[in-house]
Amino acid sequence: MDKFDFLLYTILIIVFCNILGFFISLVSIHSDYLQKYRIQKRKIKASTFYNRLPLIFFNIFLLLFVSSLGLYYMYPILFEQTLSFHFSTILLQLLIILLIDDLYFYFLHSWMHKNEYLLNKIHRIHHKAISPFALEYIYVHPLEWIMGYFGPFIAIFLISFCFGDFGHVSQGVSILAFWLYQLIRNIHELDVHSGFRSFFSKWIPFWGESEHHDLHHEKLNGNYATTFTIWDKIFNTKINNDKK
Ligand SMILES: [Zn+2]
Ligand SMILES: [Zn+2]
Repeated sequence: MDKFDFLLYTILIIVFCNILGFFISLVSIHSDYLQKYRIQKRKIKASTFYNRLPLIFFNIFLLLFVSSLGLYYMYPILFEQTLSFHFSTILLQLLIILLIDDLYFYFLHSWMHKNEYLLNKIHRIHHKAISPFALEYIYVHPLEWIMGYFGPFIAIFLISFCFGDFGHVSQGVSILAFWLYQLIRNIHELDVHSGFRSFFSKWIPFWGESEHHDLHHEKLNGNYATTFTIWDKIFNTKINNDKK
């Protein structure tokens, strides 16, 4: 696949997820009917949503810019420029990207809570949301956004090292595995910030359901993982909802 086609489809996935997030946020704020499905009773003011949009839009443009620039240079070196991958390899690479990205995010996130300077100067912006709405996943200090985005790139380098010409199997990173990662990670971020109770995700073992991250926003400490809850169990940072 041509480099520019790869970039175009990647940008389309990111734009699609954020447009989806915009409409989920609008509906969750303006629909009285849906309030009964929200985890917390706190009502979000419409003015809060509109006041947060400038930073949200800035971060979306930053995300598009950094992704395009990074992938422009990485694509010819680290990716396998074909869609013909065995299904099992795509799934294995997808799982590796999700796990490494999430473990990296766990350490970054818990560090931002334990270090008072980082918490007050950088991460506090994201925690203005006590009962979040979907697009607040990207309502963060731009520096936090950039730091968080290293996770998938570390995974891509590692996969390329293990699967690519450096390793035993002469295949780089699968384009489909990367696109699936983008789609799952973005939609999952919208889900855990939506403020709505989970319907399906609670049935997937170790999958971070919306209640898990919503409680992190409400209590400020603990539940630092997002995609998989397993890290909070391993490192003993899981908090329980005392309202249950
Ligand atoms: Zn936090
Ligand atoms: Zn959050």
